[in-house]
Amino acid sequence: MSVIIEANDCSLKSWIETPDHSDFPIQNIPFGVFRHPEFGAVVATRIGDTVIDLCSLARNHYLKDTGADPEVFHRPVLNDFMALGQPVWRAVRNRLSWLFRHDNPSLRDNILLRREALLDAWDVEMLLPVMIGDYTDFYSSLEHATNVGIMFRDAANPLLPNWRHIPVGYHGRSSSIVVSGTAIHRPKGQTKTDQDEFPVFGPSRQVDFELEMAFVTGKQTSLGDSITIDEAEDHIFGLVLFNDLSARDIQRWEYVPLGPFLAKNFGSVVSPWIVTLDALEPFRTDGPVQEPMPLPYLRFAGRKSYDINLEVALKPDQSEETTISRSNFRYMYWNMAQQLAHQTVNGCNINVGDLYGSGTISGPVPGSYGSLLELAWKGTKPLKMTDGTERTFINDNDTIILRGYAMKDGVRIGFGEAITKILPVK
Ligand code: MN
Repeated sequence: MSVIIEANDCSLKSWIETPDHSDFPIQNIPFGVFRHPEFGAVVATRIGDTVIDLCSLARNHYLKDTGADPEVFHRPVLNDFMALGQPVWRAVRNRLSWLFRHDNPSLRDNILLRREALLDAWDVEMLLPVMIGDYTDFYSSLEHATNVGIMFRDAANPLLPNWRHIPVGYHGRSSSIVVSGTAIHRPKGQTKTDQDEFPVFGPSRQVDFELEMAFVTGKQTSLGDSITIDEAEDHIFGLVLFNDLSARDIQRWEYVPLGPFLAKNFGSVVSPWIVTLDALEPFRTDGPVQEPMPLPYLRFAGRKSYDINLEVALKPDQSEETTISRSNFRYMYWNMAQQLAHQTVNGCNINVGDLYGSGTISGPVPGSYGSLLELAWKGTKPLKMTDGTERTFINDNDTIILRGYAMKDGVRIGFGEAITKILPVK
Protein backbone atom coordinates (compact mmCIF):
# COMPACT_ATOMS: atom_id res chain seq x y z
CA MET A 1 0.00 0.00 0.00
CA SER A 2 2.73 2.42 0.94
CA VAL A 3 4.57 3.81 -2.06
CA ILE A 4 7.81 5.74 -2.23
CA ILE A 5 7.13 9.21 -3.57
CA GLU A 6 10.47 10.62 -4.71
CA ALA A 7 9.37 14.24 -4.37
CA ASN A 8 8.83 13.72 -0.62
CA ASP A 9 12.51 12.99 0.11
CA CYS A 10 13.32 15.05 3.24
CA SER A 11 16.92 15.56 2.17
CA LEU A 12 16.09 17.38 -1.08
CA LYS A 13 17.23 20.96 -1.50
CA SER A 14 16.35 23.30 -4.35
CA TRP A 15 18.48 25.67 -6.39
CA ILE A 16 15.64 28.15 -5.84
CA GLU A 17 16.35 29.98 -2.64
CA THR A 18 13.78 28.95 -0.02
CA PRO A 19 13.40 30.97 3.19
CA ASP A 20 13.45 29.09 6.51
CA HIS A 21 9.91 28.23 7.62
CA SER A 22 8.59 28.68 4.10
CA ASP A 23 5.32 26.85 3.47
CA PHE A 24 6.68 25.87 0.06
CA PRO A 25 9.94 23.94 0.24
CA ILE A 26 10.82 21.66 -2.68
CA GLN A 27 8.98 18.83 -0.90
CA ASN A 28 5.63 20.61 -1.31
CA ILE A 29 5.14 21.30 -5.06
CA PRO A 30 1.51 22.47 -4.85
CA PHE A 31 -0.57 23.40 -7.89
CA GLY A 32 -2.34 26.68 -8.60
CA VAL A 33 -3.19 29.16 -11.34
CA PHE A 34 -1.88 32.69 -11.80
CA ARG A 35 -2.10 35.48 -14.30
CA HIS A 36 1.17 35.55 -16.23
CA PRO A 37 1.98 39.07 -17.47
CA GLU A 38 2.51 37.82 -21.05
CA PHE A 39 0.63 34.53 -21.39
CA GLY A 40 -2.53 35.10 -19.33
CA ALA A 41 -3.84 32.51 -16.86
CA VAL A 42 -1.52 29.52 -16.58
CA VAL A 43 -1.05 26.56 -14.26
CA ALA A 44 1.81 26.93 -11.81
CA THR A 45 3.68 25.58 -8.84
CA ARG A 46 5.63 27.40 -6.16
CA ILE A 47 8.95 26.92 -4.40
CA GLY A 48 9.85 29.39 -1.66
CA ASP A 49 8.75 32.80 -2.92
CA THR A 50 9.03 31.85 -6.59
CA VAL A 51 5.98 31.04 -8.72
CA ILE A 52 6.78 28.74 -11.63
CA ASP A 53 4.80 28.81 -14.89
CA LEU A 54 4.29 25.16 -15.87
CA CYS A 55 3.00 26.10 -19.30
CA SER A 56 6.40 27.54 -20.24
CA LEU A 57 8.21 24.51 -18.83
CA ALA A 58 5.95 22.13 -20.74
CA ARG A 59 6.28 24.05 -24.03
CA ASN A 60 10.04 23.75 -23.66
CA HIS A 61 9.78 19.97 -23.19
CA TYR A 62 10.74 19.89 -19.52
CA LEU A 63 7.58 17.94 -18.65
CA LYS A 64 7.62 15.47 -21.55
CA ASP A 65 6.83 11.81 -20.87
CA THR A 66 4.85 12.69 -17.75
CA GLY A 67 1.57 12.04 -19.56
CA ALA A 68 0.58 15.73 -19.47
CA ASP A 69 0.10 17.54 -22.79
CA PRO A 70 1.48 21.12 -22.58
CA GLU A 71 -2.01 22.47 -23.42
CA VAL A 72 -3.44 21.36 -20.05
CA PHE A 73 -1.20 23.94 -18.38
CA HIS A 74 -2.37 26.76 -20.65
CA ARG A 75 -5.69 26.93 -18.85
CA PRO A 76 -7.32 29.28 -16.32
CA VAL A 77 -8.13 26.30 -14.04
CA LEU A 78 -6.58 22.98 -13.01
CA ASN A 79 -9.52 20.82 -14.11
CA ASP A 80 -7.99 19.45 -17.32
CA PHE A 81 -4.73 18.63 -15.57
CA MET A 82 -6.55 16.97 -12.68
CA ALA A 83 -8.66 14.90 -15.09
CA LEU A 84 -5.49 13.16 -16.30
CA GLY A 85 -5.49 11.16 -13.07
CA GLN A 86 -3.29 10.38 -10.14
CA PRO A 87 -0.40 8.69 -12.02
CA VAL A 88 0.04 11.90 -14.06
CA TRP A 89 -0.22 14.23 -11.01
CA ARG A 90 2.45 12.14 -9.34
CA ALA A 91 4.70 12.02 -12.42
CA VAL A 92 4.52 15.80 -12.92
CA ARG A 93 5.19 16.52 -9.26
CA ASN A 94 8.15 14.11 -9.23
CA ARG A 95 9.49 15.69 -12.44
CA LEU A 96 9.25 19.20 -10.97
CA SER A 97 11.04 18.03 -7.85
CA TRP A 98 13.82 16.61 -10.02
CA LEU A 99 14.10 19.75 -12.18
CA PHE A 100 14.47 22.03 -9.17
CA ARG A 101 16.78 19.92 -7.02
CA HIS A 102 20.01 21.77 -6.26
CA ASP A 103 22.27 19.48 -8.29
CA ASN A 104 20.24 19.44 -11.52
CA PRO A 105 21.57 22.06 -13.99
CA SER A 106 19.12 21.41 -16.87
CA LEU A 107 16.73 24.23 -16.02
CA ARG A 108 18.92 25.99 -13.48
CA ASP A 109 21.36 26.98 -16.23
CA ASN A 110 18.70 27.89 -18.82
CA ILE A 111 18.72 31.61 -18.03
CA LEU A 112 16.31 32.64 -20.78
CA LEU A 113 13.60 30.22 -19.75
CA ARG A 114 14.09 31.01 -16.08
CA ARG A 115 13.45 34.67 -16.86
CA GLU A 116 10.18 33.75 -18.59
CA ALA A 117 8.86 31.03 -16.29
CA LEU A 118 9.98 32.00 -12.79
CA LEU A 119 8.25 34.98 -11.16
CA ASP A 120 8.30 36.59 -7.76
CA ALA A 121 5.32 35.35 -5.74
CA TRP A 122 4.66 38.87 -4.44
CA ASP A 123 4.27 40.22 -7.98
CA VAL A 124 1.69 37.79 -9.33
CA GLU A 125 -2.06 37.58 -9.01
CA MET A 126 -3.26 34.13 -7.98
CA LEU A 127 -6.61 32.99 -9.38
CA LEU A 128 -9.29 30.57 -8.20
CA PRO A 129 -7.49 27.33 -9.10
CA VAL A 130 -10.48 25.14 -9.95
CA MET A 131 -13.71 25.47 -11.90
CA ILE A 132 -15.76 24.18 -8.99
CA GLY A 133 -18.77 22.16 -10.08
CA ASP A 134 -20.48 20.88 -6.99
CA TYR A 135 -19.72 21.88 -3.44
CA THR A 136 -20.55 19.90 -0.32
CA ASP A 137 -19.94 21.07 3.22
CA PHE A 138 -19.71 18.48 5.98
CA TYR A 139 -20.19 18.88 9.73
CA SER A 140 -17.51 16.46 10.85
CA SER A 141 -15.92 17.92 13.97
CA LEU A 142 -17.30 16.34 17.14
CA GLU A 143 -16.27 19.32 19.23
CA HIS A 144 -17.88 21.83 16.86
CA ALA A 145 -21.14 19.88 16.60
CA THR A 146 -21.19 19.49 20.38
CA ASN A 147 -20.55 23.19 21.02
CA VAL A 148 -23.26 24.26 18.58
CA GLY A 149 -25.65 21.71 20.08
CA ILE A 150 -25.03 23.05 23.59
CA MET A 151 -25.58 26.64 22.49
CA PHE A 152 -28.67 26.15 20.32
CA ARG A 153 -30.41 22.95 21.37
CA ASP A 154 -29.91 20.94 24.48
CA ALA A 155 -26.81 21.08 26.68
CA ALA A 156 -27.62 17.62 28.05
CA ASN A 157 -27.93 16.03 24.59
CA PRO A 158 -25.97 18.27 22.24
CA LEU A 159 -25.45 15.73 19.44
CA LEU A 160 -28.39 14.68 17.31
CA PRO A 161 -28.90 10.88 17.23
CA ASN A 162 -27.55 10.51 13.68
CA TRP A 163 -24.26 12.35 14.24
CA ARG A 164 -22.04 9.41 15.22
CA HIS A 165 -23.46 7.27 12.39
CA ILE A 166 -23.52 9.64 9.39
CA PRO A 167 -20.92 12.15 8.16
CA VAL A 168 -23.60 14.86 8.14
CA GLY A 169 -23.36 17.33 5.27
CA TYR A 170 -25.32 19.58 2.90
CA HIS A 171 -25.02 20.60 -0.73
CA GLY A 172 -23.75 24.17 -0.87
CA ARG A 173 -23.33 26.71 -3.64
CA SER A 174 -20.15 26.98 -5.72
CA SER A 175 -20.77 30.33 -7.48
CA SER A 176 -19.71 32.35 -4.44
CA ILE A 177 -16.49 30.46 -3.66
CA VAL A 178 -13.60 32.89 -4.21
CA VAL A 179 -9.83 32.86 -4.00
CA SER A 180 -7.87 34.31 -1.09
CA GLY A 181 -7.59 38.09 -1.24
CA THR A 182 -11.16 38.64 -2.41
CA ALA A 183 -13.05 41.02 -0.13
CA ILE A 184 -16.63 40.17 0.80
CA HIS A 185 -19.43 42.58 1.67
CA ARG A 186 -21.40 42.06 4.86
CA PRO A 187 -24.59 40.29 3.76
CA LYS A 188 -28.14 41.52 4.22
CA GLY A 189 -31.01 39.26 5.10
CA GLN A 190 -33.87 38.31 7.38
CA THR A 191 -33.20 37.88 11.06
CA LYS A 192 -35.44 37.39 14.04
CA THR A 193 -34.56 37.30 17.71
CA ASP A 194 -36.48 35.19 20.22
CA GLN A 195 -37.99 38.38 21.67
CA ASP A 196 -39.35 39.64 18.34
CA GLU A 197 -42.64 38.47 16.91
CA PHE A 198 -41.68 39.21 13.28
CA PRO A 199 -38.43 39.11 11.34
CA VAL A 200 -36.61 42.24 10.20
CA PHE A 201 -34.52 42.84 7.09
CA GLY A 202 -31.08 44.42 7.25
CA PRO A 203 -27.33 43.85 7.49
CA SER A 204 -26.26 40.74 9.37
CA ARG A 205 -24.85 41.64 12.78
CA GLN A 206 -23.26 38.24 13.34
CA VAL A 207 -20.82 37.62 10.49
CA ASP A 208 -18.49 34.76 11.41
CA PHE A 209 -15.72 32.71 9.87
CA GLU A 210 -15.49 28.92 9.83
CA LEU A 211 -12.04 27.36 9.97
CA GLU A 212 -12.18 24.47 7.51
CA MET A 213 -10.10 22.55 5.06
CA ALA A 214 -11.53 21.38 1.76
CA PHE A 215 -10.51 18.65 -0.66
CA VAL A 216 -10.86 18.73 -4.44
CA THR A 217 -11.74 15.63 -6.42
CA GLY A 218 -9.71 14.82 -9.53
CA LYS A 219 -11.47 11.70 -10.77
CA GLN A 220 -15.08 11.40 -11.81
CA THR A 221 -17.59 8.62 -11.30
CA SER A 222 -20.74 7.62 -13.17
CA LEU A 223 -24.24 8.09 -11.83
CA GLY A 224 -25.16 4.95 -9.93
CA ASP A 225 -21.60 4.10 -8.88
CA SER A 226 -20.23 4.36 -5.37
CA ILE A 227 -16.67 4.99 -4.21
CA THR A 228 -15.58 2.49 -1.59
CA ILE A 229 -13.68 3.74 1.40
CA ASP A 230 -10.52 2.02 0.14
CA GLU A 231 -10.73 3.75 -3.26
CA ALA A 232 -11.66 7.17 -1.90
CA GLU A 233 -8.18 8.69 -1.66
CA ASP A 234 -7.44 7.91 -5.34
CA HIS A 235 -10.17 10.41 -6.19
CA ILE A 236 -8.69 13.23 -4.09
CA PHE A 237 -6.30 15.60 -5.86
CA GLY A 238 -5.43 17.74 -2.86
CA LEU A 239 -6.47 20.14 -0.13
CA VAL A 240 -6.87 23.86 0.48
CA LEU A 241 -7.68 26.05 3.45
CA PHE A 242 -11.34 27.01 3.42
CA ASN A 243 -13.12 29.86 5.21
CA ASP A 244 -16.84 29.17 5.06
CA LEU A 245 -18.11 32.63 6.03
CA SER A 246 -21.41 32.45 7.89
CA ALA A 247 -24.05 34.92 9.06
CA ARG A 248 -25.21 33.40 12.32
CA ASP A 249 -28.30 35.58 12.80
CA ILE A 250 -29.56 34.80 9.28
CA GLN A 251 -28.66 31.13 9.78
CA ARG A 252 -30.65 30.78 12.99
CA TRP A 253 -33.87 32.06 11.43
CA GLU A 254 -33.65 30.29 8.06
CA TYR A 255 -32.09 26.89 8.71
CA VAL A 256 -35.16 24.93 9.84
CA PRO A 257 -36.16 22.60 8.26
CA LEU A 258 -33.82 22.32 5.24
CA GLY A 259 -30.50 23.55 6.58
CA PRO A 260 -28.12 26.39 5.63
CA PHE A 261 -29.06 28.62 2.70
CA LEU A 262 -28.35 32.38 2.40
CA ALA A 263 -26.37 32.47 5.66
CA LYS A 264 -23.63 30.47 3.98
CA ASN A 265 -23.48 31.46 0.31
CA PHE A 266 -22.43 35.12 0.36
CA GLY A 267 -18.76 34.18 0.08
CA SER A 268 -16.43 31.30 0.96
CA VAL A 269 -12.69 31.66 0.58
CA VAL A 270 -10.08 29.12 -0.58
CA SER A 271 -6.29 29.36 -0.40
CA PRO A 272 -4.77 29.55 -3.91
CA TRP A 273 -2.37 26.57 -3.76
CA ILE A 274 -3.73 23.02 -3.77
CA VAL A 275 -1.42 20.83 -1.72
CA THR A 276 -1.54 17.32 -3.12
CA LEU A 277 -2.45 14.27 -1.08
CA ASP A 278 0.95 12.93 -2.18
CA ALA A 279 2.73 15.82 -0.43
CA LEU A 280 0.73 15.12 2.72
CA GLU A 281 1.52 11.39 2.75
CA PRO A 282 4.19 11.72 5.51
CA PHE A 283 1.66 13.40 7.80
CA ARG A 284 -0.92 10.64 8.04
CA THR A 285 -2.10 10.02 11.56
CA ASP A 286 -4.84 8.28 13.50
CA GLY A 287 -8.11 10.12 13.93
CA PRO A 288 -10.38 10.09 16.98
CA VAL A 289 -11.71 6.70 18.08
CA GLN A 290 -15.15 6.20 16.53
CA GLU A 291 -17.69 4.87 18.99
CA PRO A 292 -20.04 3.24 18.20
CA MET A 293 -18.38 1.57 15.24
CA PRO A 294 -19.81 2.99 12.01
CA LEU A 295 -21.66 0.87 9.44
CA PRO A 296 -19.44 -1.35 7.26
CA TYR A 297 -19.24 1.06 4.27
CA LEU A 298 -17.66 3.66 6.57
CA ARG A 299 -15.12 1.33 8.21
CA PHE A 300 -11.54 1.81 7.16
CA ALA A 301 -8.08 0.34 7.69
CA GLY A 302 -4.91 2.33 8.25
CA ARG A 303 -4.39 5.98 9.06
CA LYS A 304 -6.71 8.30 7.15
CA SER A 305 -6.38 11.49 9.16
CA TYR A 306 -3.68 14.12 8.59
CA ASP A 307 -1.72 16.10 11.14
CA ILE A 308 -2.06 19.68 9.87
CA ASN A 309 -1.72 22.63 12.26
CA LEU A 310 -4.29 25.34 11.65
CA GLU A 311 -4.48 28.94 12.81
CA VAL A 312 -6.88 31.83 12.52
CA ALA A 313 -5.87 35.47 12.86
CA LEU A 314 -8.15 38.51 12.96
CA LYS A 315 -6.67 41.80 11.75
CA PRO A 316 -8.66 44.93 12.57
CA ASP A 317 -8.43 47.74 10.01
CA GLN A 318 -5.24 49.81 10.45
CA SER A 319 -4.06 47.55 13.27
CA GLU A 320 -1.97 44.46 13.89
CA GLU A 321 -3.42 40.96 13.75
CA THR A 322 -4.28 38.74 16.73
CA THR A 323 -4.17 34.94 16.55
CA ILE A 324 -7.56 33.86 17.86
CA SER A 325 -7.54 30.09 17.28
CA ARG A 326 -5.11 27.18 16.95
CA SER A 327 -6.60 23.89 15.82
CA ASN A 328 -5.60 20.80 13.86
CA PHE A 329 -7.11 18.91 10.92
CA ARG A 330 -6.59 15.63 12.80
CA TYR A 331 -9.39 16.56 15.23
CA MET A 332 -11.95 15.72 12.54
CA TYR A 333 -14.11 12.80 13.69
CA TRP A 334 -15.03 11.75 10.14
CA ASN A 335 -12.11 11.60 7.70
CA MET A 336 -12.10 12.52 4.00
CA ALA A 337 -12.34 8.90 2.83
CA GLN A 338 -15.44 8.39 4.95
CA GLN A 339 -16.94 11.63 3.66
CA LEU A 340 -16.42 10.64 0.02
CA ALA A 341 -17.66 7.07 0.58
CA HIS A 342 -20.75 8.49 2.23
CA GLN A 343 -21.29 11.15 -0.47
CA THR A 344 -21.45 8.44 -3.14
CA VAL A 345 -22.98 5.50 -1.26
CA ASN A 346 -26.39 6.21 -2.79
CA GLY A 347 -25.00 6.35 -6.34
CA CYS A 348 -24.48 10.13 -6.45
CA ASN A 349 -21.81 10.80 -9.11
CA ILE A 350 -18.90 13.14 -8.56
CA ASN A 351 -16.91 15.21 -11.05
CA VAL A 352 -13.39 16.52 -11.47
CA GLY A 353 -13.29 19.84 -9.62
CA ASP A 354 -15.86 19.19 -6.92
CA LEU A 355 -15.06 20.77 -3.56
CA TYR A 356 -15.75 19.13 -0.20
CA GLY A 357 -15.51 21.26 2.95
CA SER A 358 -14.60 19.47 6.15
CA GLY A 359 -16.93 21.47 8.33
CA THR A 360 -15.69 23.79 11.05
CA ILE A 361 -12.65 22.26 12.73
CA SER A 362 -12.80 22.79 16.47
CA GLY A 363 -10.39 21.18 18.89
CA PRO A 364 -10.99 20.10 22.47
CA VAL A 365 -10.03 23.34 24.27
CA PRO A 366 -11.57 26.82 23.91
CA GLY A 367 -8.47 28.27 22.19
CA SER A 368 -8.87 25.69 19.43
CA TYR A 369 -12.44 26.45 18.41
CA GLY A 370 -12.95 27.08 14.70
CA SER A 371 -15.53 29.90 14.73
CA LEU A 372 -16.19 33.15 16.59
CA LEU A 373 -19.57 31.74 17.57
CA GLU A 374 -17.73 29.23 19.73
CA LEU A 375 -14.64 31.30 20.65
CA ALA A 376 -16.83 34.10 22.04
CA TRP A 377 -19.50 31.59 23.10
CA LYS A 378 -22.55 33.14 21.41
CA GLY A 379 -21.38 36.65 22.22
CA THR A 380 -21.03 36.08 25.96
CA LYS A 381 -17.21 35.98 26.11
CA PRO A 382 -15.80 38.75 23.92
CA LEU A 383 -12.29 38.15 22.55
CA LYS A 384 -9.61 40.73 23.31
CA MET A 385 -7.54 41.89 20.33
CA THR A 386 -3.97 43.09 20.81
CA ASP A 387 -5.09 46.62 19.90
CA GLY A 388 -7.41 46.63 22.93
CA THR A 389 -10.69 46.27 21.04
CA GLU A 390 -13.04 43.32 21.54
CA ARG A 391 -14.87 41.02 19.16
CA THR A 392 -17.86 38.74 19.44
CA PHE A 393 -18.34 38.61 15.66
CA ILE A 394 -16.52 40.13 12.66
CA ASN A 395 -16.58 43.94 12.36
CA ASP A 396 -16.61 45.85 9.09
CA ASN A 397 -13.11 46.11 7.59
CA ASP A 398 -11.73 43.26 9.72
CA THR A 399 -9.55 40.80 7.84
CA ILE A 400 -9.65 37.07 8.63
CA ILE A 401 -6.57 35.02 7.82
CA LEU A 402 -6.47 31.21 7.89
CA ARG A 403 -3.07 29.50 7.87
CA GLY A 404 -2.04 25.85 7.96
CA TYR A 405 1.03 23.67 7.80
CA ALA A 406 2.23 20.16 8.54
CA MET A 407 5.70 19.58 9.94
CA LYS A 408 7.87 16.47 10.39
CA ASP A 409 11.56 15.57 10.12
CA GLY A 410 12.47 19.19 9.49
CA VAL A 411 10.14 19.49 6.49
CA ARG A 412 7.26 21.96 6.61
CA ILE A 413 4.45 21.52 4.08
CA GLY A 414 2.25 24.60 4.23
CA PHE A 415 -0.88 25.91 2.60
CA GLY A 416 -0.10 29.62 2.57
CA GLU A 417 -3.08 31.73 3.55
CA ALA A 418 -6.79 32.15 2.93
CA ILE A 419 -7.40 35.87 3.51
CA THR A 420 -10.58 37.86 3.29
CA LYS A 421 -11.64 41.32 4.37
CA ILE A 422 -15.25 41.95 5.38
CA LEU A 423 -16.41 45.19 3.78
CA PRO A 424 -19.44 47.21 4.93
CA VAL A 425 -22.81 46.23 3.56
CA LYS A 426 -23.26 47.09 -0.13
MN1 MN B 1 -19.12 25.19 7.08
